[in-house]
Amino acid sequence: MQDIDYLQLLETAMEHSLNAVVITTADLDLPGPTIIYVNAAMMRMSGYTREELLGATPRLLQGPKTDRAMLDRLRKALHAGDPFDAITVNYRKDGSPYDVEWNLSPVRNKTGTITHFVSTQRDITASVEDHRQRWLVSSAIEMSSDSVVITDANGNIEYVNQAFERYTGYMRDAVIGQNPRLLQSGHHSAQFYRNMWDILTSGDTFRDTFLDQTRDGTCRYVEQTISPIKDEQGHIIRYVSVGKDVTQRVMYEQELERLAHTDTLTGLANRLSFERYSALEMARSRRYQRPLSLIMLDIDYFKPVNDIHGHDVGDQVLVKFANVLRENLRITDLCARWGGEEFIVLVPETTLAQALQLAEKLREAVAATAFPVVGQQISASFGVIESRRDELMLQMIKRADLALYQAKTAGRNQVMAVEERGHA
Ligand code: GH3
Ligand code: MG
Ligand code: MG
Repeated sequence: MQDIDYLQLLETAMEHSLNAVVITTADLDLPGPTIIYVNAAMMRMSGYTREELLGATPRLLQGPKTDRAMLDRLRKALHAGDPFDAITVNYRKDGSPYDVEWNLSPVRNKTGTITHFVSTQRDITASVEDHRQRWLVSSAIEMSSDSVVITDANGNIEYVNQAFERYTGYMRDAVIGQNPRLLQSGHHSAQFYRNMWDILTSGDTFRDTFLDQTRDGTCRYVEQTISPIKDEQGHIIRYVSVGKDVTQRVMYEQELERLAHTDTLTGLANRLSFERYSALEMARSRRYQRPLSLIMLDIDYFKPVNDIHGHDVGDQVLVKFANVLRENLRITDLCARWGGEEFIVLVPETTLAQALQLAEKLREAVAATAFPVVGQQISASFGVIESRRDELMLQMIKRADLALYQAKTAGRNQVMAVEERGHA
């Protein structure tokens, strides 16, 4: 046992320690404690040789960025004989700063007097820099104007940023641990979500416009990009979803679309819109062999209205006339302004006899309506047909026009039908 040289062993251990070790005297009077021992790690960290450090004061490690408040705490701890730990900035011999985490313990002799201070130090520049980088990235995500959601592999929310709170009205604490499906508005099919999960679980990024429901029940269009995050083995461990609120743009596009299909004067469908939707109705009627009828109508003697009262009054009459039509039609009837003072109504699920009744109802409604701006009654003439099997819209319109012409020549303010000879 007595062969073991403990001092030798301890010194070897110190010399090979990865952490820097400094031992100083306990002189608190100026110039203060002086260094009596440093290990190899201390020389590596500071860039000083052992000769340069021994006999020097540890103050030579300090510099402009060294925390002054920390030095005050240190002085107090030294005088009180308390252990001390801190994180600060030290300087190498070449003047370059490094972040250091260090502690200091007083060493007492048998009578309790402090004789030395032992300090261990660790260069944490890399981890401080790493921390700074993470902080930078997380601040950028936090402040992003796009909403950011991070979920675990099961889709439970772990993080949302401020933009998410703004978009959805849900505060962070209310959604952590929840599934993002709490935003579902019911506008997407089950197939939509299945397709999304198929893409995500196969490791690919999913992009689409979602219609989300916010906390107050309003809906928002969000352009989402959802990406799986994988670990080093390639297993999916998180999903990151970045969303851009495009509600305004979508609303604007929908308004443009609506305007493109609407007659600006009367608010009825325009010709373009009629052509598009009538094609759908015709296909449906053909597929299910359901009746479909068409009414063409034209205001009688409208030219004199303009000539006598002016074009603006003529316009007011057209608006009121269109309202009378609207009020007397069903939502499934497709009514459009065909041209000037000519209108067209496509009536699904309606036979010729029923369409004649409807046209007669419209005729009477117009005749019964007062048009105070012109101080006279207004009437219209109606041509009615029922579609034949495999008839084109163009042919239907031609026949309805013919019936309308007959109503005009027969004296106006009446409903005429084209005889359905040869109808299967
Ligand atoms: P008919 O009984 O034979 O239908 O006689 P009409 O005078 O109604 O027929 P005509 O086709 O000769 O005249 C239609 C008039 O409708 C021509 C035009 O002055 C007027 N008109 C067409 N479009 C508009 C419009 O947008 N605003 C106004 N104020 N008038 C229009
Ligand atoms: Mg007319
Ligand atoms: Mg006309």
